[in-house]
Amino acid sequence: MEISYKSTRGDGETYTASQAILQGLSPDGGLFVPTQIPKLKKSLKELSQLSYQDLAYEVMSSFLTDFTPDELKGCIERAYDSKFDTEKIAPLVEKGGVHYLELFHGATIAFKDMALSILPHLMTTAAKKNREDREIVILTATSGDTGKAAMAGFADVPGTKIIVFYPKHGVSPIQEKQMVTQKGENTHVVGITGNFDDAQTAVKKMFHDQDLAAELARAGYLVSSANSINIGRLVPQIVYYVYAYATLARDGKIQDGEKINVVVPTGNFGNILAAYYGKQMGLPLDRLICASNDNKVLYDFFSTGIYDKNRDFILTTSPSMDILISSNLERLIYKIAGDDAERCRGLMESLSAQGKYGITPAMREQLEDFYGGFATEKETAQTIAQVSKDTGYILDPHTAVAAAVYEKYKAQTGDTRTTVIASTASPYKFTRSVLCALDPKYDSMTDLELVDELHRLTGLPIPKAIEEIRTAPVLHDRVVDAEDMPAAVRDILGCV
Ligand SMILES: *Cc1c(COP(=O)(O)O)cnc(C)c1O
Repeated sequence: MEISYKSTRGDGETYTASQAILQGLSPDGGLFVPTQIPKLKKSLKELSQLSYQDLAYEVMSSFLTDFTPDELKGCIERAYDSKFDTEKIAPLVEKGGVHYLELFHGATIAFKDMALSILPHLMTTAAKKNREDREIVILTATSGDTGKAAMAGFADVPGTKIIVFYPKHGVSPIQEKQMVTQKGENTHVVGITGNFDDAQTAVKKMFHDQDLAAELARAGYLVSSANSINIGRLVPQIVYYVYAYATLARDGKIQDGEKINVVVPTGNFGNILAAYYGKQMGLPLDRLICASNDNKVLYDFFSTGIYDKNRDFILTTSPSMDILISSNLERLIYKIAGDDAERCRGLMESLSAQGKYGITPAMREQLEDFYGGFATEKETAQTIAQVSKDTGYILDPHTAVAAAVYEKYKAQTGDTRTTVIASTASPYKFTRSVLCALDPKYDSMTDLELVDELHRLTGLPIPKAIEEIRTAPVLHDRVVDAEDMPAAVRDILGCV
């Protein structure tokens, strides 16, 4: 079955998967969505016998139907290799009666590696397929993890350049150090004086900027995105939900076909949307529990049907979820609007003009798969301490938000179904928040001292990604205001 893609704000024009990946965002400002969600081709029993790579092929080949088997297998092989520190790629760890799906075993120790280790290969393959000979320039806004993972993926990939914008004062010290020490002739990192939403909005604006596009095209560049607005990010993320289910089934933790819940610490709504697509493929998922931090715009949306970003932006200990404009929600809105691009565009225009929109009761009824919850900073820290005390397992603050919301969910619903929590980062990426949750005395130590302390306390091996930054020189120090981002791009690319 051929799957094509169309824009959530378009006129129905369709694109192949490779065209959608290459473009990133549709020219009308919408996001590409598959015209239908394919069903899983093999039984869950058969799938549970497969390696991560073979399972990735099963899932991704159903969506990326214009890639040949050889092309796709080549991409998968180059992505899910020894960059990951375990052959399982995404191990499932049972602690305190819940299953943590550890998505942080890749090169930059956050879940972004799951998709960003394959996106560069999908993109360069897509360029070849479409006889695109311009150099691909990736413009990416990051709340801390995407930037490093995207650069690690694209570094020294021929035919590509990548420019990452991050909020100078909105990422963890280790996240920043990871980014500003990035090697690779084709990588560029720029701090901005605003927050993540400012960076993301300015990047989206550059995609719409016809003058900039024409200028860059003349200079031989094709601009694309590595943010989760790119469908090439979303499809690889479906794989690990299928893998988690298959692993539970293989290990006899669930009966064949038994439904499970998933809890996802959410920012841009990409990770949880992948779970939703998995459910539509036929994966037996029950509730999709959307966990927010103090920036609880999604919790409010699920409780009221009103999306309202007019509120203070709060810097939390889970910075990768400090987001008020969850881009991927647009794909869900399009779906519950009955695939009506006109209506979807109207709501998104209202979001950019008034900062909010409301959905109809009929649309709300279709959100039953989701449960929205949030955890405060205090609850997040308490959860890190409690889980450590009860089980010895150390959660990073993002995963702790999910674990805290799951506890609230259980207390509220009494639901005891088998549950998987998406564990999105290694605690080594957020040592200060993690250790201070255990004992405030740690606040006086430096970040790298805290790394050693976490190692001493837990015996968990220190990831290569952390060892590397201890001595790495700072290679990027540019900082600009959000409105000067286009000028920075012109400067970096030598278009003046
Ligand atoms: C990006 C990120 C998230 C949020 O994922 P979304 O797909 O943006 O919802 C959560 N945790 C960590 C560690 C992340 O890097």
